[in-house]
Amino acid sequence: MLKLKGIAAASGISIGPAYRLNREEFVVPKQEITEDQIPLQIQLFEEALIQTRKEILELQKRISSDMGQEEAQIFDAHLLVLEDRMLIEEVISRLKKEHLGVVYIFSQVLKKYIEVFSKIEDEYLKERTADINDVGKRILRNLLGKKRRDFQDLKEKVVVVAHELSPSDTAAMHKQNVCGFVTDVGGKTSHTAIMAKSLEIPAVVGLQEVINKIKTGDILIVDGSTGVVIVNPDSDALSFYRQEQQKLKGIAERFFLVKDLEAVTLDGKTIEISANIELPEEVPSIKLHGGQGIGLYRSEFFYMNRKDLPSEEEHYQAYKYVAEQMNPYPVVIRTLDLGGDKFLSQFAAPHDMQPFLGWRAIRFCLARPDIFKTQLRAILRASVHGKLKLMYPMISGIEELKQANSILNEVKEELRKEEVPFNNNIEVGAMIEVPSAAMTADLLAAEADFFSIGTNDLIQYSLAVDRANEKVAYLYEPTHPAVLRMIKNIIESAHNAGIWVGMCGEMAGEPSLALILLGLGLDEFSMPPLLIPEVKYIIRSVTLKQAKTIALEALKLSTGKEVEEYSQIRLRELLGWEKA
Ligand code: PEP
Ligand code: MG
Repeated sequence: MLKLKGIAAASGISIGPAYRLNREEFVVPKQEITEDQIPLQIQLFEEALIQTRKEILELQKRISSDMGQEEAQIFDAHLLVLEDRMLIEEVISRLKKEHLGVVYIFSQVLKKYIEVFSKIEDEYLKERTADINDVGKRILRNLLGKKRRDFQDLKEKVVVVAHELSPSDTAAMHKQNVCGFVTDVGGKTSHTAIMAKSLEIPAVVGLQEVINKIKTGDILIVDGSTGVVIVNPDSDALSFYRQEQQKLKGIAERFFLVKDLEAVTLDGKTIEISANIELPEEVPSIKLHGGQGIGLYRSEFFYMNRKDLPSEEEHYQAYKYVAEQMNPYPVVIRTLDLGGDKFLSQFAAPHDMQPFLGWRAIRFCLARPDIFKTQLRAILRASVHGKLKLMYPMISGIEELKQANSILNEVKEELRKEEVPFNNNIEVGAMIEVPSAAMTADLLAAEADFFSIGTNDLIQYSLAVDRANEKVAYLYEPTHPAVLRMIKNIIESAHNAGIWVGMCGEMAGEPSLALILLGLGLDEFSMPPLLIPEVKYIIRSVTLKQAKTIALEALKLSTGKEVEEYSQIRLRELLGWEKA
């Protein structure tokens, strides 16, 4: 028996035989061609591009209808690679010059592209290497007439073991006999992890050398909640995890029973449980999982994958739709959060050394009031169709908040002059995701109607840990005492000023931390829809008093690990589970 520890990517437990995918490598012939064979080689290349495009579009369609728009959009980047004129022209011109077969030429050009991209310092652009690699392999496969890597022939449920999985690989697993997967590479926010969560397949990534330690047919236990993978477990481990699996199944059924009830503690404190979304298409999923509003609408996704900026009318229609759909529940629209790891196609990616610390979010909006005002006008106009609120990302101090509010007031004044109706009392909040904002929350509270704590960024900034870098993922601890103290300070400052405070970072959807956050006084938890039933269930199972005691105890601990262990033990005790 061998126990390995990686990064927990998608929760749940799976047990099954390993199915090892070898690294996909192709033997590329270096074939000389004559001048008159060139047109045929170009034709082969074009056919391979057309075939690849067809495959990707089919895959995208399937994913979009089975899993949703967001997952399907991952393939937009793949389609863009196929249309890359520079890549195509380089292949054709080298074909003409070098008189070598198209398979060889294409593989050389691809290699060069991958080398160039993987050397780029910027984490986001570096991630694009995976897209180029994925599409490149598809093209090569089509040029060579090889069969695709698919999972359709699997006769029994297996755990896929791979060095890495491309989004195409993960998507191909959908509805096939794959009950889990483990990979050498990847972090919590990698595409592979995002897909695994949507597919609801337990997964552990970033295991580093797993591929060398596992053979096809080895029995594997994958615990996607703790990141533990056990190879050829002994009978004790097997029976333990089988019991855990059963328990989890029973528990999930129990969660679903309460999904449409209020999240109210046993002693009567009602908490708001809302959802994080990127696109309006996700509204049905919120309803399915019992969400009582939208706590974070990441509006920047509206600006992506397009050549122009969205018009005021497009913004308006999207916000009106979510406001109406969610009414009477609230919808918090976060104004454009460009930069960091999210870039728009209309602007060249900034060459900041540290994009997360650079020209992003509210800094960008204050510098480009034209873009900012278009969005604010649309939000205000849509505010008459439901319970819309708005919040600014990345506020670092009071001046920024005042400046943003003054632009908002200008927009209100314009609308008033034009006699366009809007809700003059729309709630305006500040995201608290920069340590300076967390430490001056008392000052900010005077200028805001609410706070929403963005722990994804707050953790990376306060612990100096890049949230997208798997090598430092072990330092990214939501339970770090520094993080807990900041959260405590933010909540207290908000309550002292009489405003409510929510959390929309991933931490809000961590079941084991729900009790601490509840005990610290959080009023609203916003999370991916799938996680809502479990967090509701937890809140309904305890008293606020119990949660307060847990929070106080947690604050006395000196390491993130201790806090994590403590919160899990207390959760198990209070809910009568033995769930890890
Ligand atoms: C956050 O930082 O916690 C957050 C919710 O915003 P984003 O993940 O979009 O940066
Ligand atoms: Mg953020």
